[in-house]
Amino acid sequence: MAQASAVADRSPARSPKTEHFDVLIVGAGISGVGGAWHLATRMPGTSFVVLESQESFGGTWLTHKYPGIRSDSDLYTFGYRFKPWVGAPIASAEEILRYMGEVIDENDLGRHIRYGHEIRSASWSGKDKLWTIEAVRKDTGEAARFTANFLWMCQGYYRHSEGYTPEWPGMKSFKGRIVHPQTWPEDLDYKDKRIIVIGSGATAATLIPSIAKACKHVTMLQRSPTYFIPARNAIDLADTLRQLDVDETWIHEIVRRKILYDQDEFTRRTFEEPEAAREELLAGVKAYLGENFEIEPHFSPSYRPWRQRIAFVPDGDLFMAIRSGKASVATDEIERFTETGIQLKSGKTLEADIIVTATGFNLNVLGDIAFSIDGKPLDFGKTVTYRGMMFTGVPNMVWVFGYFRASWTLRADLIGDFVVRLLTHMKEKGARQVSVALRPEDRDMPLSTWIDPENFNPGYLMRGMHLLPKRGAKPEWQHTQDYWSERKSLPETDLDDPAFVYE
Ligand SMILES: Cc1cc2nc3c(=O)[nH]c(=O)nc-3n(C[C@H](O)[C@H](O)[C@H](O)COP(=O)(O)OP(=O)(O)OC[C@H]3O[C@@H](n4cnc5c(N)ncnc54)[C@H](O)[C@@H]3O)c2cc1C
Repeated sequence: MAQASAVADRSPARSPKTEHFDVLIVGAGISGVGGAWHLATRMPGTSFVVLESQESFGGTWLTHKYPGIRSDSDLYTFGYRFKPWVGAPIASAEEILRYMGEVIDENDLGRHIRYGHEIRSASWSGKDKLWTIEAVRKDTGEAARFTANFLWMCQGYYRHSEGYTPEWPGMKSFKGRIVHPQTWPEDLDYKDKRIIVIGSGATAATLIPSIAKACKHVTMLQRSPTYFIPARNAIDLADTLRQLDVDETWIHEIVRRKILYDQDEFTRRTFEEPEAAREELLAGVKAYLGENFEIEPHFSPSYRPWRQRIAFVPDGDLFMAIRSGKASVATDEIERFTETGIQLKSGKTLEADIIVTATGFNLNVLGDIAFSIDGKPLDFGKTVTYRGMMFTGVPNMVWVFGYFRASWTLRADLIGDFVVRLLTHMKEKGARQVSVALRPEDRDMPLSTWIDPENFNPGYLMRGMHLLPKRGAKPEWQHTQDYWSERKSLPETDLDDPAFVYE
C-alpha cells in the first residue's frame, strides 16, 4: 500500500500471489489511459494498475483495422483536455494511437499497465471492503489475482473480439467472402472486386471511400439513411491561431470551446427547429452530390437529427466516391443472400465477390466480467444508475460510459475529475466504502429504461437495453448524454448528499 493511500487500507492477509492496489482500472483504451493520467498526476501516492486484455493500448483504435479507420468526431474534443491536439480534426486510428502513446510516455504511465490480462471475475467482499479480481494472462494462460479498494471500469461498450452480424437467409450459400469490419482479415484482397457494404453508419462511410479506388465497384446497401456532415478536414480558427503563433495549449482550449459552442447551438436547433436543421444537413450533402442525385431516399433520414451521432465526412470523401461512379447506394431491404450476391425485397439483385457487414457491435457493458457482491451474482439490469457512472448496490465502483452525441472523451475526463474528488473525499472522511442508494424521497420514483429511445436510439443500445441499469425520474438518477449540462452538474455534485452512503 502506498503511503498516501486514496482509500484507507485494512485489507486482510493475502496469499503471496495476490497483488493489491488502491485502484484497479479495467481497460487501456482512451478512457482507461485517461483514468491513469488522473491518478498519476493528480493523486500521486495512490497505487494503481491498469489491466488490459489486448497486447497494447488504444482499445477501439487498436481493435479496428479496416481500411481508412478514422474518428468520426473531431480530435480537439475527442482528445483529452490536458493534451493538445495539433493535427487535422478528423484523425486516423494510427494518429490517435500515436497521441495516446505520447500521453503514456510523457506521464510515465506504462509502468502501471499490464497488457494481455483478461479479467474474468470481480467479487466484492463487504466484510473486507475489497474487490478481488481474477484475470488470466493470455501469453501463459496463468491465473493472476488482484485485490483493489476501488474499481474504475473503462471497458468501453462493445465486445472487442467480434462484431454484430445479423442472420440473413441464404448466408451460407454465398460463394464469396463475408467480412465484419471489426475483424477485417489482413489478407483480404479487394482489388478489382465487386463489394457490397451493408450499413449506413460511420463505419460504412469511412470504409467505402477508402476501398472505392482499388475495388471494381462498392455498393452501400442500407435499410434506411443516416445524416452526415461533409466538410473540409480543417478548422479555420485553429489554422488562424497557428498563423498567429499562439501556443498549442491555448489553441486546443479555444478550438474546443468553439466546437462545443457550435455543437450546443446545433443541438438546440435540432429540438427547436428540426426541419431547418435537417435541411441544412441535407444541403451539405447535396453540395457534394449535385442537384440531380436522388437525395431522397438515399441521404434523407426520416428521424430528427441527433438521435445518433452525426458522422463528419472529411472532405466529403464518401460523396466524392459516389460522384466518381466507383461507389453507389442502394436503399432497400435484404430478402436473402444468393450464391453470387444479395436478393433485395424490391426485386433487384446486387452481385458481389465480397460482402462487408458494417452492422454494428455486441453491447458488452461490463467487459464480460462475472461480477458478484458478497457472493451473489450482480444483475446489472436491476440496479439504478447514479448519473450513469455509479449503481445502487455496487460499492467502490465507477463506470465510464462516454457521450454519443458529443465526443466520448469529454465525459471520460469529467468522470476522471469526479473519481479524484470522490477518492479524496473518502480519504478525508476515513471511509473505506462508498455506494449510492435511493433516498427516502426517491423510493417511489418511477424507473424506466436506461436511455429514452425517443432521445437516442442506436441499434446496439436497443438490442441490449435489458442489460443496462434503470433510470429514475430525477436528473441525478439518469445518464443524460448531455455534456453541456453535465460539465456544470458533475463538478458540483455534493458528495455528502444522502444518495452517497459511506462506511
Ligand atoms: C470504429 C469506431 C469509431 C469511433 N469513433 C468515435 C469518434 O470519432 N468519437 C467518439 O466520441 N467516439 C467514437 N467511437 C466510440 C469509441 O468506442 C469511444 O469513443 C472510445 O474510443 C471508447 O474508449 P474506451 O476506452 O472507453 O473503450 P474501448 O476503446 O472499447 O477500450 C476498452 C478497453 O478495455 C479492454 N477490456 C474490456 N474488457 C476487459 C476485460 N474483461 N479485461 C481486460 N480488458 C478489458 C478492451 O480490450 C479495450 O482495450 C468509435 C467507436 C468505433 C468502434
